[in-house]
Amino acid sequence: MGCHDVRPLLPARVEELSPLEARVRAEHVAGCSRCAAEAAAYSRLVHALAAMAGLEAEPVAGTLERALAALDRRRMLSTGPRVLMTDPRVAMFAAGSAGALVATLMVARALRQRRRAPRGARPVPRLALATPALARAK
Ligand SMILES: [Zn+2]
Repeated sequence: MGCHDVRPLLPARVEELSPLEARVRAEHVAGCSRCAAEAAAYSRLVHALAAMAGLEAEPVAGTLERALAALDRRRMLSTGPRVLMTDPRVAMFAAGSAGALVATLMVARALRQRRRAPRGARPVPRLALATPALARAK
């Protein structure tokens, strides 16, 4: 078996190969430094992805407050403070933006908690919930 035959087997994890494929790969990799290096790179990639899948990134404390303050500043720049106070449409837009952001954060938190739920829990209709809120926040 040459490199060309073994190469498609290199990305697979051992448990994904048939016993014959696993043996063919192991024998070839033992004698071919190029395929050994490639197999090692795939293995590192798989481990990195597995580690990333287990990560749960919490937003830094104060993220919501800073985001709301940034929205506030942007609104002041684009409308001016007097318009902001008098134009109810601006106030409604601002309330909508803040509400969408809060809703997005709530959904994200809920999804994170769902993911921790035991197996067999109902899948979350993720996009249906998150997309309108994200679109409105822009
Ligand atoms: Zn090879």
